[in-house]
Amino acid sequence: MATQSKAQLLNDVHALLKKRYKPKAEPNALRFSVLEAVVYGICHEGTTREQANQALSRFKDDFFDWNEVRVSTIEEIRSALAGLPNTEERAQHIRRFLRQLFDRTYSFTLDALVKKPLKESLKVLADYEAFSSDYVTATVTQLALGGHAIPVDGPVLRALQRLGIAETEPDVPALRGMLERAVPKNRGLEFCDLLEELAHDTCVEGEPDCPRCELRKVCPTAHVRKEQTTAQTKAGKHDGQPPKAAAKDKVAEHAPAPAKAAKSTKMASPAPTPAPAPAPPAKGKPKRSK
Ligand code: SF4
Repeated sequence: MATQSKAQLLNDVHALLKKRYKPKAEPNALRFSVLEAVVYGICHEGTTREQANQALSRFKDDFFDWNEVRVSTIEEIRSALAGLPNTEERAQHIRRFLRQLFDRTYSFTLDALVKKPLKESLKVLADYEAFSSDYVTATVTQLALGGHAIPVDGPVLRALQRLGIAETEPDVPALRGMLERAVPKNRGLEFCDLLEELAHDTCVEGEPDCPRCELRKVCPTAHVRKEQTTAQTKAGKHDGQPPKAAAKDKVAEHAPAPAKAAKSTKMASPAPTPAPAPAPPAKGKPKRSK
């Protein structure tokens, strides 16, 4: 897909999703301190805003301060993460970040970085292990440092792959770069929130709910799925035997190649599911869609 048509598709996607989900995000609003944005990013990767916000609130309500979190057991930290997947891994990341922060600064604030140029701040933060995750880096850039970033986690990547937007990007940082060039900063936060809604509402793991999706007219995966259903229906009428293998091979042929996983905390939701899932041919070795 040419850059121009991809930009147009992103524009259409934004407009259609906005119509459906009616976002409440305030453009350009800095939502968190740097420390909070790190914890929020760790909690938000592969989950929803509500889940991440709830976890952050529990840290604030259930612990005296961030130092108490730093010296708590993993089990105690996991209790604040109840309801999220991979709580142990997330708890380890949060505690390791707090320990690194305390060892380096003897404090629990990084807010002096907000006043520095973005590149300089990111250079300082890159020394923290939590920033080996592209998602956490993008989240902190967007929500605490006032930069332009579009964090891409597993669910969002899955939706972008199905929409054919991720197909030419070799990995998540490259995909993020393309999105950040195509979507203006003043619409970035809203765009992220809308993609999240999509990924957790209709473009879910496994079978996407295309008939209920606002993007079904512009989405190549929805078109292929519809053709598949039509072919199966026709064949069923003809001989009562749906030609599943042939129809599914066609889907596999159109399935977009997934972007490689970014360097990450490896706690994102399960690997993105190219959709629809490739099916084995009727006979012989199974084909792969990617
Ligand atoms: S039409 Fe289907 S595959 Fe495409 S974005 Fe919507 S739910 Fe996902």
